[in-house]
Amino acid sequence: MELKNNALFKETCFIGGKWIESDSGEKIKVDNPANGEIIGEVPKCSTSETQKAIQEAQAVFPSWRDKTAKERSIILQKWARLIEANADDLAKIMTIEQGKPLAEAKGEILMGVTYIDFYAEEGKRVYGDIIPDPMPDRRIVVIKQPVGVVGAITPWNFPSTMITRKCAPALAVGCTVVIKPASQTPYSALALGVLAKEAGFPDGVMNIITGSANAIGKELTENPLVRKISFTGSTEVGKILLQQSASTVKKVSMELGGHAPFVVFDDADLDEAVTGAMQSKFRNSGQTCICANRIFVHEKVYDEFLNKFINEVNKIKVGNGLEEGIVSGPLIDQLSLMKVHDQVKDAVNQGAKIAVGGDVHSLGGNFYQPTVLSNVTTKAKITYEETFGPVAPLYKFSSDEEVIKMANDTPYGLASYFYSRDIGRIWRVAEALEYGMVGVNTGLTTKAEIPFGGVKESGLGREGSKYGLDDYLNIKYISMAGI
Ligand code: ADP
Repeated sequence: MELKNNALFKETCFIGGKWIESDSGEKIKVDNPANGEIIGEVPKCSTSETQKAIQEAQAVFPSWRDKTAKERSIILQKWARLIEANADDLAKIMTIEQGKPLAEAKGEILMGVTYIDFYAEEGKRVYGDIIPDPMPDRRIVVIKQPVGVVGAITPWNFPSTMITRKCAPALAVGCTVVIKPASQTPYSALALGVLAKEAGFPDGVMNIITGSANAIGKELTENPLVRKISFTGSTEVGKILLQQSASTVKKVSMELGGHAPFVVFDDADLDEAVTGAMQSKFRNSGQTCICANRIFVHEKVYDEFLNKFINEVNKIKVGNGLEEGIVSGPLIDQLSLMKVHDQVKDAVNQGAKIAVGGDVHSLGGNFYQPTVLSNVTTKAKITYEETFGPVAPLYKFSSDEEVIKMANDTPYGLASYFYSRDIGRIWRVAEALEYGMVGVNTGLTTKAEIPFGGVKESGLGREGSKYGLDDYLNIKYISMAGI
């Protein structure tokens, strides 16, 4: 890999400020999803290395906690500036291991920086409370303190922001972290570690271990020194981590799967709705947990919306993300591709029509055609399973009540979207949707200032905004008597 700063490409783990191999010497190969080439190998760590990382994080925790918020903020800001300065290289590393187009990768790197800048400031505003006591000689004081060592387990679809979104608030309030990145995208994580060291975080404040997900996850959840688990990934793995965390009653935040409804009412601005659907559905080749997964269109505007949508989808240029002009890269692996294709075949068997795409791409490998399915039935798998691919199923509806019921008919509750110009309907529908996030006349933008998170089986806790601090803080009540 040719980089301006070759030091960013690390093939060892970061524990206690040192770069180490796994105890067993075993490795995991990492490939480029655009062409299957092996990029390199990272250590296959397991229980013993995880214990070491947790011990390092625990040992440095008191001194990191006792720094002032401003002292921590200065190091966080230095980290942010270094990430910014190396954004081109970091984007290239991401595109090569994850597949997303270079411009999108750079956008993610810079987005990651906004979380660090936001929490470098917000970490100074960990306010407590004084509550009037019913007894005259007493005072009720509430303070907030960092929970301690945090275990952060992150996915491959956003290899950089999922790390900064967890680490920035955790580090800003005085926690220390042990990060386990996804095995498909370890290099983006390790590069952030290189820059964290350069920024001056004391040894052990941030640790990054690659390797066996089961073994590392089990140690992070069951080790009593870890006081919090922050996970982004599938609902299936989230449930395992919740169960394992029960043994030590840890604080948990879970950003899990989604099955976002995208509703177009008959009074919607259809051009805007098409733009929103394109952004929400096809970003990252449909591999985000907030991607529009079910597009419901009112029967009066169905045909018009479908035609406009097809026009736009036909323009998507698929290919290797390193090439100029590509807007949609490969899927992460063959397993993902097969799952997506299986959903498409099943939907067609259940009566759906293919309006665009519908098959693997002629480029081969992990590439799939951007696909639009019309007249999808509620029996099709795609109606109730998360897709994680560039496939947009369209459904027809005729009343508000009907579409709200269909939109909520899922165990997931992360993002939702709808388009309407009627203020009464906007309030009614926004309140009726059982989701953590609602985009009204927008494909919803994620940013540091918003509380990102879901309800139902989409998870617990919020990331971003002032609410994102709470997940890394304990509330302590101090009773002052004898006044
Ligand atoms: P996806 O389906 O998006 O790959 P996963 O939930 O499988 O999502 O993976 C998200 C993260 O969770 C990755 O870092 C992965 O290695 C990790 N992971 C997978 N299985 C486990 C497990 N049993 N315990 C802990 N972490 C796990």
